[in-house]
Amino acid sequence: MPLAYIGLGSNLNDPVGQVRCALGVIAALPESRLAAASRLYRSPPMGPSDQPEYINAVAALETALAPRDLLHALQAIEHDFGRVRLRRWGERVIDLDVLLYDDLCLDSPELTLPHPGIGERAFVLRPLAELVPERVIPGLGPLADLLAARASDTCEPLEETA
Ligand code: ADP
Ligand code: MG
Repeated sequence: MPLAYIGLGSNLNDPVGQVRCALGVIAALPESRLAAASRLYRSPPMGPSDQPEYINAVAALETALAPRDLLHALQAIEHDFGRVRLRRWGERVIDLDVLLYDDLCLDSPELTLPHPGIGERAFVLRPLAELVPERVIPGLGPLADLLAARASDTCEPLEETA
């Protein structure tokens, strides 16, 4: 089965709970199996700075869903979680992005793969590197190199609480 990587982010209404809950819903997607999930990370907001910090994670999903069907399934989850689009890069209860779908490259407004922001965002690169440190990102190069270029960006794993 194809292996997709999904980026999760939340900064509203108990973000830790939102991300954990979303991981559970993703794990229950049809024709799919949750292969791995990163720890949860905290990072400062991208875009408007007058919003709470983010909780981020990355999930690895084996899935027989086609890329667009996967995107639509994730958008349905965002909708179910009550995501409301207020402003660009603004606060949200959940954001689910398709980061990678095998090594597929697509360039359409609806679905761009790899995800267009992947190379610049420590909050994506760091949890992804926890799962697949040796991964090469199509068109961008080794994940480790991209991460090294973002070494100074804040993105820390949450303290584990029992
Ligand atoms: P962002 O994730 O950048 O904060 P949104 O979640 O509001 O922004 O998504 C905006 C649009 O990005 C969506 O309408 C979606 O169709 C498009 N999009 C393009 N490529 C992807 C991708 N790889 N994963 C998720 N959405 C994508
Ligand atoms: Mg998104």
